Amino acid sequence: RQPTDINLLADEYLRLAYHGLRAKNKSFNATLHTDFDMSLGKVEAVSQDLGRVLLNLFTNAFYAVQKRKEMQPSINGYMPTVSVITRRGPDDTVEVRVRDNGTGMPEGVQQKIFQPFFTTKPTGEGTGLGLSLSYDIVTKGHGGTLSVETQEGEYTEFIISLPA
Ligand code: ADP
Ligand code: MG
Repeated sequence: RQPTDINLLADEYLRLAYHGLRAKNKSFNATLHTDFDMSLGKVEAVSQDLGRVLLNLFTNAFYAVQKRKEMQPSINGYMPTVSVITRRGPDDTVEVRVRDNGTGMPEGVQQKIFQPFFTTKPTGEGTGLGLSLSYDIVTKGHGGTLSVETQEGEYTEFIISLPA
């Protein structure tokens, strides 16, 4: 682990995920929103590993907003939005929150998302490994926690919490 600027890492991977998707699908677009606590010190992290976690969370978020747009093309003014927020959490932790206003998840899905190979995506679009790998990287690799809050049809927010 190395002292890592979590704001910089989150910003880089948000843009990497977005531009990667845009390169494949020119009509894809979303609003990116960042809210960084610039006073956060560096955190001890394996930046490549944490980068993979962020990339997976962002990729899932963009997929969810795209899917909501396709499912409900008639909602006027639906603006697909993916946000990343950093801040100090309770008990000397740093939080990275990845939020999207996409499909959200029903409870039956939410309970299974950290299981290896669980996916709701069509064959070829998802392996179902992203979140189980992310969970291990955050918990075993960094002594942190990875949790989720979601409301079906409204939003999903993943919360990475790391020791400061
Ligand atoms: P994959 O992306 O390959 O399906 P993941 O482990 O990354 O595998 O995610 C597992 C499942 O969790 C997804 O198939 C989807 O059903 C659900 N999921 C993950 N992130 C989101 C999100 N931001 N919004 C809605 N559902 C999500
Ligand atoms: Mg995924």
